[in-house]
Amino acid sequence: MSFIKEIYNYVTKNIKLGEMKMYTGKVIDFHVHVGNFSMLRNDIQDLLMLKNASRDFDVQKVFSEPAHLIPYLEAAGIEIAVLLGEDGPGTNYHITSQFVCEFRNRTPDEHKDMFVCLGSLNPNKITSTPLEKYHFDIESGVLGYKLYPSEHNFDPLSDALLEVYSEMEKNRHILMFHTGESAQVDSVDKWQSPADFKMIPEKFPNLTVVLAHGGKKKYADEAFDMLIKYPNVYMDTGFITTSMLSEMYPDISKVVDKILFASDLPGGVSSLIKYIQNFREMSLSEDEVSKILY
Ligand SMILES: [Zn+2]
Repeated sequence: MSFIKEIYNYVTKNIKLGEMKMYTGKVIDFHVHVGNFSMLRNDIQDLLMLKNASRDFDVQKVFSEPAHLIPYLEAAGIEIAVLLGEDGPGTNYHITSQFVCEFRNRTPDEHKDMFVCLGSLNPNKITSTPLEKYHFDIESGVLGYKLYPSEHNFDPLSDALLEVYSEMEKNRHILMFHTGESAQVDSVDKWQSPADFKMIPEKFPNLTVVLAHGGKKKYADEAFDMLIKYPNVYMDTGFITTSMLSEMYPDISKVVDKILFASDLPGGVSSLIKYIQNFREMSLSEDEVSKILY
């Protein structure tokens, strides 16, 4: 049972930790972006539309409407999808924690259990303290954050943020960071390497830390070292093809427990079903593949 299922059951179904029913289990997608397509900055819209012809889904609809996203995820066998906020310049600051929670709330009751929300905290955008913002966001229903220090240009190790991480650790919330290089024009040349975040799992050994994109190719070694060294550190496969993943981690079998399947929809894949199939075709055992997928 992966920690996301534990947390999810704990919060949504009030089942005590350690007493979880087993899932019949399909796939958990740890990295899905939603928003209002027309509100994205123009260059980001263009970037997403560029590959639209090769996709088996309509970017604008799947990104913007639960009614389109849900059947697309279901068709690929996704049981739980983690929806991510992004309160930054590329989204024209519209994908706030509240936006993702409202998106989830727009889903029909029978599908509400499908979504887990990780909000967005951008210290450059808030008027309250980060800790106050965190308390406000958990009222809306987020189960953690995805932070973008390099893309939103802030220090992820500031005292004010460490205070938030400490609370998140107590609440069993999830802390995800963008790692690796960025396609966004605003990103700064800092806080891209997973090694930059080392202090966090050391200081908060019970906080679940997810290195989105596993540092991608450039910092794959740093990510691998952290997966090995810290029991509470994971990576997700957002924007990484399966062949790239095998190249990034030649010793992948050592870390299959720490790899979370992630599509990075809508930008990260041209076909979700094919992407999942690619994992099944990797030279890994069935058990190893299922550890990655769920
Ligand atoms: Zn992403």
